[in-house]
Amino acid sequence: MKSFPIRPLLAEGARLAELKSKAASLPRVDIDERTAADLELLGNGGFSPLAGFLGKADYDSVVERMHLASGEPWSIPITLSVTAEQSASIKGDDVALWHGGRPVAVIHVKERYGYDKAREAKNVFRTEDVAHPGVAALMRQGDVLLGGPVEVIAADIGTSFAKYRLTPAQTRAEFARRGWKRVVAFQTRNPIHRAHEYLTKCALEMVDGLLIHPLVGETKGDDIPADVRMRCYEALVENHYPAARVMLSVFPAAMRYAGPREAIFHAIVRRNYGVTHFIVGRDHAGVGNYYGTYDAQRIFDEFTEGELGIQPVFFEHTFFCKACGWIASDKTCGHDPSLRVAPSGTKVREMLRAGEEPPPEFSRPAVAKILIDAMRVK
Ligand SMILES: [Zn+2]
Repeated sequence: MKSFPIRPLLAEGARLAELKSKAASLPRVDIDERTAADLELLGNGGFSPLAGFLGKADYDSVVERMHLASGEPWSIPITLSVTAEQSASIKGDDVALWHGGRPVAVIHVKERYGYDKAREAKNVFRTEDVAHPGVAALMRQGDVLLGGPVEVIAADIGTSFAKYRLTPAQTRAEFARRGWKRVVAFQTRNPIHRAHEYLTKCALEMVDGLLIHPLVGETKGDDIPADVRMRCYEALVENHYPAARVMLSVFPAAMRYAGPREAIFHAIVRRNYGVTHFIVGRDHAGVGNYYGTYDAQRIFDEFTEGELGIQPVFFEHTFFCKACGWIASDKTCGHDPSLRVAPSGTKVREMLRAGEEPPPEFSRPAVAKILIDAMRVK
């Protein structure tokens, strides 16, 4: 199998010292949370093989063909946008990127180019509807993209959940230490209820280890906050998974809600973390009704065997069936749908808000309790 080396863009040693002293005198661009998360992932090698923010040839190729100009797969444009006024005011090619009151990276600008936001929206998000949070973010961006290689100068761009914030080099080393050759990752931005627990365990039956890899970068306001979710994952891992076969680590990326394309992106980045298998459930990285239930699975057919360097593992919608007496899907249960314990997301949120525990077939009581307490504080 082809190997996929990681390429961290975090500067080191004398180069790091040189860049740090130089950065303060360079033209400055302040970056948002999403771009800061992108820089963390460029810095730690999670975005390999990217060398920085996309230039025009790569940008066009990613938007049109889900591949870099070199032919390597990449499905989400990783770009640095500025306004036309900002671009005009920037003299020279080296620009310091500031976040949290300090420079965190330097970009060596090779290109400044305009771009067609409507085309990007249509191709990447499959909609131009500004009610879509990813499209809304795109439309808010500046009209000029700066492309060029990046050198990251802060190793601590993101610091939340520090003990779980492993870099790709660290997860790879930990998998090797544990002797895991086949590792399945589960991406989530939601609490893990019984149905998700079931599918992570089904997947674990077929491999050596499970990486629960929740996304902790920026999400939309009505998603459950990362700190609450982390407490749920901790309670679940502690009580319901075998410690020797499961690892909890955080994924610093921001959500883009690009559904199918983001599923590919999530898979490629997890490959860089050393993962061999990746769980793709229904409506992965979706929002609203913009994507078909299984579009995020079908899109994997657009890539050739082995091209992504990671094997997707597909799951259907799962639920507890009273007649089966356990969790099942349409594939494994033929009973009447009325026997399913599968409250809607809206119904579950209502119950939690009212201080009621959802049925234990739906949610582990320890997880429900954490969610109820979190809603009460508000
Ligand atoms: Zn059944």
